[in-house]
Amino acid sequence: MDYPRLVINIKSIGDNVKIIVEMAKKENINIAGVTKVFCGNKDIAKAYVEGGVKYLADSRIENLKKLKELNLPKIMLRLPMISEVRKVIQYSDISLNSELDTIVALSKAAIELEKVHGVILMVDLGDLREGFFHDEDLYKVVESIIELKGIKLMGIGTNLTCYGGIIPNETILERLNIIKDNIRQKYSLELDVVSGGNSSTIHLLGKGKLHGINNLRIGEALVLGKETAYGEQIHGTKKDAFILQAEIIEIKEKPSIPIGDIGMDAFGNIPTFVDRGVRKRIICAIGKQDVNFEDIFPRDKDLIILGGSSDHLILDGSDSHINYRTGDIIEFNLDYGSLLATMTSSYVKKVLN
Ligand SMILES: *Cc1c(COP(=O)(O)O)cnc(C)c1O
Repeated sequence: MDYPRLVINIKSIGDNVKIIVEMAKKENINIAGVTKVFCGNKDIAKAYVEGGVKYLADSRIENLKKLKELNLPKIMLRLPMISEVRKVIQYSDISLNSELDTIVALSKAAIELEKVHGVILMVDLGDLREGFFHDEDLYKVVESIIELKGIKLMGIGTNLTCYGGIIPNETILERLNIIKDNIRQKYSLELDVVSGGNSSTIHLLGKGKLHGINNLRIGEALVLGKETAYGEQIHGTKKDAFILQAEIIEIKEKPSIPIGDIGMDAFGNIPTFVDRGVRKRIICAIGKQDVNFEDIFPRDKDLIILGGSSDHLILDGSDSHINYRTGDIIEFNLDYGSLLATMTSSYVKKVLN
C-alpha cells in the first residue's frame, strides 16, 4: 500500500448529494454538481449523477473532458479563454460568460463544429469577481446574442462568497429575478436557468427566499456537507467522505525549541515556537508540497500539528492516548483547500471505497 493517500468514501458523497438534491427540489431548484474540487474524477462524478444532479460543472476543460461519457449536460464554470473556445464547445454544453468577444468566438466555433452552445450571463451582485456590474451592459449583450448563430441564451447567474466574501441574501438575489423579468418583457425570452450561486446560497434553502431562482451550482456542500456562508454542517450530511492518511517515519522525544540562532525556514519565514518542554515528536511523510498544514485536522484530537517542510509534517504526540509506532498511519479530516490540494498532488494516491 502506498502513502500518503486519500481514502474516498463514494457512498458518503452519494448520500450527501441525495440530501442536498432533495432540499433544493422542494423549492423547484435543480443542482449542477461541481466536480473541480476532485479534479473531475469520473468515479466520484458518477455518485453525483446517481444522486440526482441535473448538470455536471467544472472550471477546467481538462476535467470536463474526463466526464465525457457521463450522460448529463456539462457546464464550463470559469469564463472561457478565447484561446480555448473550440474545446469549450467540444466538451461542454453550456458556459458561464460575461464578455461579448468571447461569446462571438464561441459562436464561430459552435458553427464550425455544428453545435448549439448554451450561454449563461453572469451578474456581479457585489462580490467583485466575474460578471456584469451594470444591468444595461448585460441587456446590450443579450441583444447581440439574439443575433448570433450557434449560441442559445440559456440564462443568467451569479457567484458570491468566492472573492469578496459577500453572503447571499434575499435582497441581493432579488436583482437576478428583476433581470430575468426584464429580459422576458423586453425580448420575449423565457430563460431556462436562473442560477443563484454556490454552496454559500444553501443557507437560504427551505425559507422561501429564493424568488425566481431555479438552479444552484454546488461543490463543497456535496463533498464535505458544508454550507459556506456560515460554515455550518448541513443536517444529515457527512464531512469525512475524504480522509487523508500519512505514514509515521520518526518518533522521538525532543525539546520544543530549536537549538542555536534562529534564521529563516525553508520557505523564507522566521519561525516561532511554543515552549512545551521535552515532547514526543512524530514525523509523517507528507509535506507542504502536498498540502497546507493549516487545512488538515488530525482525527486523533490529541495530536498537535507543529509544522514541517516540503516533505515532512511534524506533530506533537505527547497528549495522545495512542501509542504510535514508526510505520503507523495517522488520519486527517480535510477542508476545501486541503481537499483541492491533495486531489491535485500526484504524490497523494487516491483510493476509492
Ligand atoms: C467553484 C464554483 C462553484 C462551486 O462552489 P462551491 O463553493 O464549491 O459550491 C460554483 N460556481 C462557480 C462559478 C464556481 O467557480
